Amino acid sequence: MQFMSQAQSLAKAKILIVDDLPDNLRLLSTTLTQEGFDVRSAINGSLAIMGIESDSPDLILLDIGMPDMDGFEVCDRLKSDAKISDIPIIFISALDDVQDKVKAFELGGVDYITKPFIIAEVLARIYLQLELKDLKHQLKTQNQQLKDTLQQQKQVESQIRQLNQELERRVLERTQQLQTANEKLKQEMQERQQAQAKLLHMATYDPLTGLANRPLLLQHLEETVQKLESLPNLRCLLLRLDCDRIKTISNTLGHDQGDRMLIEIANHITATVPQGSFVAQLGGDEFAIVLTHQEHGNSIDMLVELLHYRLSAPIHLDNLEISINPTIGMVVAKSSAVKAEYLLRDAELAMVQAKQNQRGSRQLFQPAMHQQALQNLELEGQLRQAIEQNQLKVYYQPIVLLRPDTANASIVGYEALARWQPDATSRFIPPGIFIPLAEETGLITQLGDWVFKTACQQLRQWNQQRPPDQVLCLSVNFSIHQLNCEQCFHKICNILQFTQVPPEWIKLEITESVLMKTPQLVLTMLEQLRGQGIQISIDDFGTGYSSLNYLKQLPIDTLKVDRTFIQDMEISSDSLQILKAILNLAQALKLDVIAEGIETATQAQTLADLGCLYGQGYWFSKPLDSQAAGALLESKI
Ligand code: C2E
Ligand code: MG
Ligand code: MG
Repeated sequence: MQFMSQAQSLAKAKILIVDDLPDNLRLLSTTLTQEGFDVRSAINGSLAIMGIESDSPDLILLDIGMPDMDGFEVCDRLKSDAKISDIPIIFISALDDVQDKVKAFELGGVDYITKPFIIAEVLARIYLQLELKDLKHQLKTQNQQLKDTLQQQKQVESQIRQLNQELERRVLERTQQLQTANEKLKQEMQERQQAQAKLLHMATYDPLTGLANRPLLLQHLEETVQKLESLPNLRCLLLRLDCDRIKTISNTLGHDQGDRMLIEIANHITATVPQGSFVAQLGGDEFAIVLTHQEHGNSIDMLVELLHYRLSAPIHLDNLEISINPTIGMVVAKSSAVKAEYLLRDAELAMVQAKQNQRGSRQLFQPAMHQQALQNLELEGQLRQAIEQNQLKVYYQPIVLLRPDTANASIVGYEALARWQPDATSRFIPPGIFIPLAEETGLITQLGDWVFKTACQQLRQWNQQRPPDQVLCLSVNFSIHQLNCEQCFHKICNILQFTQVPPEWIKLEITESVLMKTPQLVLTMLEQLRGQGIQISIDDFGTGYSSLNYLKQLPIDTLKVDRTFIQDMEISSDSLQILKAILNLAQALKLDVIAEGIETATQAQTLADLGCLYGQGYWFSKPLDSQAAGALLESKI
């Protein structure tokens, strides 16, 4: 079966028969054609070669003995042509010579058939050779395929190698990129963390002094107070320090120096407080300290006393010796339930109280201070209303010329003093209460403007009825808050213009302690006002510790000696000596002197004898409403 199917497929093969004998050709051709082969024939070698070159057969039956070119030569030629050398050649010969057979195989023949043919043998040999050829061909093809596959494999391997290399390169490159990105990310994260830390620091610390600010203080207080429950012996004290001299010094020294001084003060406080204390800055001139202490007995009082003493020690800045002399408000945290905010508020209330008592003092918070603060709040509302509804009044207290014969003292002017009586039935609220309140709340500007304008209108009215050589002067109290604004100069000029009062009739009274702290800007404006003809008085002189050198530089015309010296001069020789010194000083500086608070004839006489020209006090008259003050004028004329 296998042979048959092979035979069927091989039968289509092209077979060339080369033989010079036509009978042989015919026999073979017929037989092979019958067998199904595609048979061609050639009667000599030359024709065979030509035919083969144009259409090569699958097998050649080649006769050896031919006249022109024998089979060996034909074979030799065919084998030398690479294109056709593969065609199997079966020699046919009538001779059965071994020599021939050897030669035939040597020349490349694949088989050798001797005549006469036995057809079956011929066919078997032909099939065998065709099959061999086919196998050879298959082998060659497979070989080629194998080679191709191998080649492809090599190519694939090479590509894989290249891809691998490329992959490795990319992985390396990517790794490097990732490493770089990672580094960058790390750096960015570090920078971000630093920026965050910086922001956090900026949000919780003062940029100039580096001290903790209010939010951080509150946080610290909250945490400290929490510990009170578990540590019964722990004492927590919050101190609020007000160093009101800082602003003055800062204004005097200029900003840069002021900043340097603030840093020095912050360092001074930090270095002075006991270890474990927490220092914070609440504003330009306010600090807070949280003291914690394991209490035995009352040692915390000693601690505070020592701290206050040390804090008051002078600080050196260039050639200056500065004492911050802090006013201290204190509160003890008694329970872990207390809120930090309330502690801060209570310490502030205590500080305000301490300031009112005496600057540089210290005060422990008392619950009653709360009540006071609430009352102040209520009073503030009432005062605001009083100003808006014109419920305030101006009272006038005469300033007199002291004559040796004091009974004949004549009025040279009036001091305008604000009065507030909430309603007709209630008592007057003293200026000592509502003026500081107005200053604290900013109402003073409105109040002061109103007093100045009202008093100027009154003065104009009085002076219109007096001979020109007896015109009255008007002393008006001015608070620093009123003066420390840009429009103040123009406002004063406008009021004078509006009320038709010449500047020469006006004296501005500024309290000595305030004038000492007055910023340069305000001093320049006071110079300008003096340039217009307005006079400047130092009120309550002797209480503000002016240095003589500083006094010389101030734009002033009059010293109003504080009434404590007048009241004490009879009982204290020191006061009398100081009074004499003030009078000498005023003479040397060509300043007028007005003695305040003269309550007795003796005081008036003594002052007149000492050469004091002017006086003011209950002895002559208490402050009066405008009507009474006008009547007093008429009675004196
Ligand atoms: P000041 O300017 O030193 O006014 C003198 C104060 O002494 C007045 O108190 C006056 O009533 C009082 N006084 C006068 N003579 C005597 C006396 O013989 N004995 C006694 N014990 N006191 C006498 P007042 O009116 O209570 O004013 C207190 C302070 O309030 C004033 O002191 C002044 O600094 C301030 N003040 C009053 N009115 C105003 C105002 O309109 N503006 C401003 N900024 N401050 C004002
Ligand atoms: Mg005054
Ligand atoms: Mg006074």
